[in-house]
Amino acid sequence: NRVLYSAVHRPCSVMLLVNPHSGKGQALSLFTGHVQRMLNEAGVPHTLVITERQNHARELVREADLSQWGALVIMSGDGLLFEVVNGLMEREDWEEAIQTPLGILPGGSGNALAASIHHYSGAQPVSSEELLISCGFLLCKGLVSRMDLASVHLGSSRSNPTRLFSFLSLAWGFVADVDVESEKYRHVGAARFTMGTLVRLASLRVYKGRLAYLPVDEEDGQSPVSLEMTSMSPQHQPPLSAFCSSTLLCQPLKDSPCQNTAHLAFHNSRNSNNAFKAKKRESMSANATLTGPPDSLLVPLDQPVPSDWVVVPEEDFVLMLAMYQSHLAKDLYAAPDSTLDDGLIHLIYVRAGISRTALLRLFLAMEKGTHLANNSPHLVYTRVRALRLEPYSSKGVITVDGEVVEYGPVQAQVHGGIARLITR
Ligand code: ADP
Ligand code: MG
Repeated sequence: NRVLYSAVHRPCSVMLLVNPHSGKGQALSLFTGHVQRMLNEAGVPHTLVITERQNHARELVREADLSQWGALVIMSGDGLLFEVVNGLMEREDWEEAIQTPLGILPGGSGNALAASIHHYSGAQPVSSEELLISCGFLLCKGLVSRMDLASVHLGSSRSNPTRLFSFLSLAWGFVADVDVESEKYRHVGAARFTMGTLVRLASLRVYKGRLAYLPVDEEDGQSPVSLEMTSMSPQHQPPLSAFCSSTLLCQPLKDSPCQNTAHLAFHNSRNSNNAFKAKKRESMSANATLTGPPDSLLVPLDQPVPSDWVVVPEEDFVLMLAMYQSHLAKDLYAAPDSTLDDGLIHLIYVRAGISRTALLRLFLAMEKGTHLANNSPHLVYTRVRALRLEPYSSKGVITVDGEVVEYGPVQAQVHGGIARLITR
């Protein structure tokens, strides 16, 4: 982990992107009311950029001179970070660009990544306002960790798929429908998901499709990709109440300041057998765009999945949810085992046949993260490296990081620790 800000080298200003319409439309006033003074007192130089429309941040980041910025931080929901990540990955210099430390301040209605990093910091669940302060505090500390991204191929036109990068989730069925339908309740903030869940439960339906995945080779250990490790990692965690008076936060921090120009040298440390299989696939791998790493675990969507994949026997589902972080929303602790850079996709699916009551019970248990221990015969949880979903219907909803994407066959593979996030 690296400490971000340095008064010794050069000022590494933070580009702070705010979506004024996110959440209840109060992101800007939440920022000025709760975070701005904190950053000023901690001596974190920052420049506010208010987004004017959808994809504004994506375009800005795609064209920006990144040597000017120590970090790109968003104050919004997960949707704005999705834009930033994809803007970076669309650049010719994506390999350097994605090294730019990213940060998140929860200002939206879906603040899953913020809830995840708050959880990883060891803290207990808190209210929305406290979550913002907690994330502001992490931003002031400026410690950077590795974060997984998944490469997602969408292929309603199977021969010419598009590729996206995702830091949080891929959802189909119940969860994706709730995400979209609950947009109309965004004025209630994070509670929109609870309302959406109750409404959708009333009209519970079955989603048909074929699901396949590449299971984790458990012998392979849990660190599929090892990246540059660094030394600076203060372990102590001052209480939140101490942040204003803490000299730790105000003093110039040593260590290398701007990591955004560092060369990303990563290697795949999967065992040689897997490395061989991956190599074999590489020649026919599904590389949809010119930028970004090759997806050595995927074959094109118009070809059958490789023979070492598991094809799920059921074709009737209530939901499919692939997660790479712990929280799906502030109060949905969907993948309790997930960590920031475990290089895993935590795949959860619910088979058709589950009763409304049992499904409601699952969602209630998810608040505490106990749903996987519930022994529901309809719920399956497994850890995978890659997956493919082929819905049978021509219309429906798939979301990536909570954002609606093109509906149709989709596949994804995880790239362990490829991005960097201000956390801890
Ligand atoms: P929320 O959690 O409230 O949905 P998001 O950050 O996810 O907040 O943003 C919702 C959507 O708004 C995203 O698709 C994002 O790309 C888009 N967006 C970003 N900036 C703007 C803007 N200025 N006006 C309208 N939409 C925007
Ligand atoms: Mg959103």
